[in-house]
Parts: sequence; structure tokens; C-alpha cells
Amino acid sequence: MLNSKTALVTGSTSGIGLGIAIVLARQGANIILNGFGDSEAPKAEVLAAGKAHGIKVGYHGADMSKAAEIEALMAYAAADFGGVDILVNNAGIQHVANVEDFPVAKWDAIIAINLSSAFHTTRLAIPQMRRKNWGRVLNIASAHGLVASAGKSAYVAAKHGLVGFTKSIALETATTGITVNAICPGWVLTPLVQKQIDDRSAREGIPVLQAEKELLGEKQPSLQFTTPEQLGELAVFLCSDAASNVKGQAWAMDGGWTAQ
Ligand code: NAD
Repeated sequence: MLNSKTALVTGSTSGIGLGIAIVLARQGANIILNGFGDSEAPKAEVLAAGKAHGIKVGYHGADMSKAAEIEALMAYAAADFGGVDILVNNAGIQHVANVEDFPVAKWDAIIAINLSSAFHTTRLAIPQMRRKNWGRVLNIASAHGLVASAGKSAYVAAKHGLVGFTKSIALETATTGITVNAICPGWVLTPLVQKQIDDRSAREGIPVLQAEKELLGEKQPSLQFTTPEQLGELAVFLCSDAASNVKGQAWAMDGGWTAQ
């Protein structure tokens, strides 16, 4: 379904980004990976997922907190892939502390990576999408783009900002073949969440499994984690023709979190 399209997924060496990249590859999209750490194993996984379609997979290690590196990433996409048709703004980090104890550098990093990076990739991707009159921008926000939790001021501010950014760009491109939407996951068991489970286990002196149950029970009525694969399937739907009139939405997949 996505043959001849190129998808850039930021922060895709791990977790949700890697899951979305794999599912898009299965649909025949060429994939540009980005993120820190080992890139060879994720590249091999994505290549294998798209093998039947003979897809092309690339990687660029831009630090998404740095505008100049994002510009280099987008230049690489233009030169090696002819541009980006599907832009998945997924890179993100978390830090938990009350506002009076929140490290200033962490605030700045969360705003830069979780919010401003989407501005930079989008401003550079939209001109080509307009020329082709086709494009998909998927911003991986969060349940925290819709509601708040204590201790996560920077993350909640960035994710609410990302949802607002999504709506604004959806309106700017409303009469074109470009759609811009946010996906709002609840808890997904990735390294970003495992750290919060481990911190809870240490803080409360309880086993990790109990900490995991408590974390789910507090917010996610289904008591089940959403999987990266499920988020990938939602991304595929939003890339399909059936979703061509879905514009500016913040689509939750959160086990009922934001229904409460
Ligand atoms: P993760 O820690 O598994 O993956 C984060 C990815 O981002 C990694 O590939 C990492 O290398 C990359 N990254 C981090 N900083 C970067 C930087 N400066 N430049 C480039 N890449 C960078 O986390 P995840 O849980 O998969 O989170 C992915 C996205 O989903 C984030 O935006 C997160 O806020 C969002 N999200 C996660 C959950 C969850 O429960 N896990 C829920 C809602 C939203």
C-alpha cells in the first residue's frame, strides 16, 4: 500500500518509533531511521520487515534537539530518498520531578526534542509534500497531550504543544493532499516507561512486577499496555486513502486513560 513512499521516523532505534517503522516497512515504504545507540540491529529488522517489497532503509544520527542537525537529516532524506512523504515525529524523552526541583537543562531538552524538533522537520518536509500534493505528518504525542499528571510539567507542556502544533499545520494544509494528525498513546512498555516502573519499584520497595501493575492501574483502565505494533497499524490507517479526510486530530490509543 505504501510502495514508492518514503517514511522518516525520528527516534526509531527503539520502542514505539522502531515498531512504527517495522509496520510501515511491511506495507512497502522505504524507511529512514534516526535515533541514538546501535542502528545496525534496527536497520536489519526493518529491512527484513520490508523484504517482500525490496524496500530501501537508511539511517541518520541527527540529534533532534539541534536544528542544524535536523537540517542535515532532511538534506540527507532529499538527496538519498527524494524527500519525505510520511513524517513520523516520534523522538521523545521524559523526566519526572516537581516543578521547583525540575532541572532547567532537562526542561530545555524536553521542549527541544519532544516539541521543537517536530517544527523543524515539518517546516522542511511540507514544501515537497505540497509539490507532490500528498503527505502524511504523524506526531507521536501522548495521553499527556490531552490530560496531565503531576511531576511531568515539561513533558505535558511539550505534548500539549505538539497537539496544538498538529491542529495548526492541519489547517494550513487543509485543502491539499497532506494530512497532519497526532497519535496519543497511553502506557507502552518501552525503555522510557520501564525506567518509570523501575523508579517506582525502588522508591516504594516493591517488586518490579507489582510496580508495573500499579502504574497501569493508576491511569490505564484496560490494565494492558498498548504495543508499538498496534500504534504502527494506526499509523498505516492514517497513511491510507481511507484517512485522507482525517485532519488535525489527536487520536488516542490509551486503554481508556483519557475517557475517565
Ligand atoms: P524510547 O526511549 O524507547 O525511544 C526513544 C527514541 O528516541 C530512541 O530511539 C532514542 O534514541 C531517540 N531519541 C531520544 N533522544 C533523541 C535525540 N535527542 N535525538 C534523536 N533521537 C533521540 O521511548 P518510547 O517510549 O518509544 O517513546 C517514543 C515516543 O512516544 C516519545 O515521543 C514518547 O514521548 C512517546 N510516548 C511514549 C509512551 C510510552 O508509554 N512509552 C506513551 C505516550 C507517548
